Amino acid sequence: MNSSVASSVRRRTFLSVGSNLGDRVSFLRQAIESLPDVVAVSPVYETAPVGGPDQDSFLNVVVELDTDMMPLNLLGVCHRIEANAERVREERWGPRTLDVDIIWMADMEMDTERLTIPHPRWKDRRFVLAPMRDLAPELVSDEDLRLSDGSVTQTGDL
Ligand code: ATP
Ligand code: CA
Ligand code: CA
Repeated sequence: MNSSVASSVRRRTFLSVGSNLGDRVSFLRQAIESLPDVVAVSPVYETAPVGGPDQDSFLNVVVELDTDMMPLNLLGVCHRIEANAERVREERWGPRTLDVDIIWMADMEMDTERLTIPHPRWKDRRFVLAPMRDLAPELVSDEDLRLSDGSVTQTGDL
């Protein structure tokens, strides 16, 4: 046994993945294929943009991981996957080929300049809560869903 290797903890983790530019379905599929430790993918939702400029609707899913990755390393993976989808960062909340956010990790709370977990706006967003509830109804109450903003329509599976 190598005592220099710290024992790792796997955490139940939820990511939100969205696209509203180009071939949205294939951007979502590419993202999921590139993510580590995926255990479940929610149905796809067509969702109205929340905030930002006038823009096309999104397709959103929530992906569940069971991962021992450290949060900042996982954020790095999310950013790399966005870069591979040729995401261009222009205006805040503007259209994007791919957005991958860390929503929630079991027993994890942090608030730093680069990363806040749980995601600071997750409870406001029906495009996060509706697919997350499909995977984890014990983490999203009817009340949470009712109080969130935005219109969402389930369109099927990826
Ligand atoms: P929002 O955060 O409101 O969903 P956004 O996804 O459009 O907006 P981005 O431009 O994709 O915002 O991200 C800006 C920065 O937010 C990222 O570079 C990252 O450092 C930071 N960030 C903080 N917390 C998180 C998180 N939980 N998941 C992803 N990024 C986060
Ligand atoms: Ca986002
Ligand atoms: Ca983001």
